[in-house]
Amino acid sequence: MCGIVGYVGTQQALPILIEGLRRLEYRGYDSAGIVLFEGNSLTAEKSAGKINKLEEILRGKTFNATEGIAHTRWATHGEPTDLNAHPHFDCKNKIALVHNGIIENYRALKVVLEKQGHKIGTDTDTEILVHLIEEYYEGNLTEAVRMALTQVEGTYGIAVISSYEPGKIIAARKGSPLVIGHGQGENFVASDVSAILAHTKRAVYLNEGEIVTVTADGYVITTIDKVHRTPHVEEISWTLDMIEKGGYNHFMLKEIHEQPSTLGNAIRGRLNFEEGIPRLNGLNLQYDQLRRIKRIIITACGTSWHSALIGEYMIEELAKIPVEVEYASEFRYRSPVIEEGTILFVISQSGETADTLAALREARRRGVTVLGICNMVGSSIARETDGGVYIHAGPEIGVASTKAFTSQIMVLALITVLLGRMRHLSVQQGMDLMHSLQAIPEKVDRILQKEAEIKKIAERYYKTNNFLYLGRGINFPVALEGALKLKEISYIHAEGYPAAEMKHGPIALIDKNLPVVVIALRDSVYDKVLSNIAEIKARNGQIIAIANEGDTEIAERVDHVIYIRLFPCNFLPIIWRY
Ligand code: GLU
Repeated sequence: MCGIVGYVGTQQALPILIEGLRRLEYRGYDSAGIVLFEGNSLTAEKSAGKINKLEEILRGKTFNATEGIAHTRWATHGEPTDLNAHPHFDCKNKIALVHNGIIENYRALKVVLEKQGHKIGTDTDTEILVHLIEEYYEGNLTEAVRMALTQVEGTYGIAVISSYEPGKIIAARKGSPLVIGHGQGENFVASDVSAILAHTKRAVYLNEGEIVTVTADGYVITTIDKVHRTPHVEEISWTLDMIEKGGYNHFMLKEIHEQPSTLGNAIRGRLNFEEGIPRLNGLNLQYDQLRRIKRIIITACGTSWHSALIGEYMIEELAKIPVEVEYASEFRYRSPVIEEGTILFVISQSGETADTLAALREARRRGVTVLGICNMVGSSIARETDGGVYIHAGPEIGVASTKAFTSQIMVLALITVLLGRMRHLSVQQGMDLMHSLQAIPEKVDRILQKEAEIKKIAERYYKTNNFLYLGRGINFPVALEGALKLKEISYIHAEGYPAAEMKHGPIALIDKNLPVVVIALRDSVYDKVLSNIAEIKARNGQIIAIANEGDTEIAERVDHVIYIRLFPCNFLPIIWRY
C-alpha cells in the first residue's frame, strides 16, 4: 500500500506535498495525485505514472493554498489510470479523499450508494468511501468520516479534506500506518514519517482504529467509538537518509521484512470460515466450473516457476487434480497437448513477463481458460486473462523476488483449498487449512527475528564459491528457490536438488569446502532427509539445516540449525502430521 501526505498551515501547501510524495517514492507506486483547498473550492490534479508527470501537469499553474492532501497509489482495485488515481471525490466535489489499503466490502456498499443516487465514476474501492462520507455529512466532517468508517470492512489509512470545513484534515487508520507531524502553526499527516521529516521531527503515530482532526494549531484524536485519546508525541531520531528505504540498507531487505504483512494481505478478506471455502471471486469461475476442471497447467518463469511447483504439490495432494508445471519460455514455443477440461494458470509478479504473456496468448488462442496470479493490478496479464487472483504484496522494487514469492504461494494455497473443497475436503478440513494459513504471517515474523543469527552463518560462508540446497517433497522447489536467490544476489554458484538425487551425481562434489543447506522439517520424509544428512557428513560436507523448533536431535548431526515453526509452503505436512 502506498503513500499519503497532508499539510495544513500557513505556508504554500503544494511544494510541501510534492516533496512529501517524492520522499515516499521509494515505496514504489503507479500513479499520483494532489488536491488543494484554494479560494473556496477543491482543486485537484492526478495522473498515472511518475510524480514527474504530475509535476509537469502542475507546472505553469499558480496556486495559493495552505491546505491539501496528496497520494501515491499502488492500484489494488481498478487499473492504474488517471481516472482511478487518488484523490477521489463525492458527487458535489466538496469532499476529497486519499486512501491506502483495501475496502473489502466496497461492492455491497456500491450497490446501496448507487440506489441512493450516488454516481460512482471510477473502478476503485476507494471512491465508495468518499460517497459514504457524503451520505453521512450533516455539518460535521469528522463525524461523517467516523460514521462511514463504521460501515467499512478492510484496511485503510485515509486523509480527507472538504470545502465545507476548510482548515481541517481528517485522517484515520486501520491496518495501514498514519502519522501526524507536529509543527509550529502547521501540522502534517503522512503514511510514513519520511514524507514530513524535512519539516518536523515531532511525530504522533495513530493507533489502529483511531481518527484525528488536524488543524494548523492542533489535533484531536479519538477512537472510532468516540473515546478521546491523549496524543503521545515522539521525537524522531532518524535522518532523512536512514528512512529512504524504510530504515533498511536495501529494498530487498525491506521487502523480506514486509512478509508478515504482505502474507496477511494475500489472505485478507478471502477466508470464509463458515463454509471452509476461500473467497476468490476474481477467478470468475462458478463452483460447477471449478468442479469440472480435469487438469491444470501452471506456467511461469524464474521464481514464479518455483512457486508454481509448490502449487503443484499442494493441489495434487489436497485437490487431487493433476498439475503440470512448465517454463513459459518452453510452453510458448512448442505445441503442448491440451485436452478438454484443462485450465492454465500463469504466475508473474509484474504481470508483464514477456514469455509468460506469450504463453498466455498461445493458450487463449487454443481456447483454454487462462487464470492469472499476479501483483500488478491492471498489468497485461491481469487484463488478458479470464480471471485471477491478485497477491496484493505491494510494490516489489528489489530485483530478486522475495515477498512476491511467498505471497504467490499463499494464493496458490488458497486456490488449493478452494479446489479441494469442490471435491472431497470437508468443511472442517477447509477450516483447519485456512486457520493454518492465517497463522503463517506471525510465524514468518518469528523467523525474521532470527536475522542476527542467520547473518552470523552467512558471514562464515560468504567467501565460498559453491553451495548446494537440498529438500524433498514440497521443499524441493524451496531448495531450488534458495539456490536461485543465492546465485542472483551473492554471485555464488548454487544448485538446488531433490535431496535423494544427490547420490546420482552431485555427491561427488561434497567435501569440507561445500556448504549444503538442507531443509529438514518434520514432515513425512524427515527420516529420509536424515539419511541424506548422514551421506553428506560421511564426506565432511558442512551442513546448515532448516529444522522445526524443538528438533534438538538434528543439532547433533549438522553444523548449524535455523529453527522455524513452519514454512508457508509447508503447511501441508503440518496439517496432516501434527
Ligand atoms: N485500494 C485503493 C486503490 O486501488 C488504494 C490503493 C493504495 O493503497 O494505494 O485505489
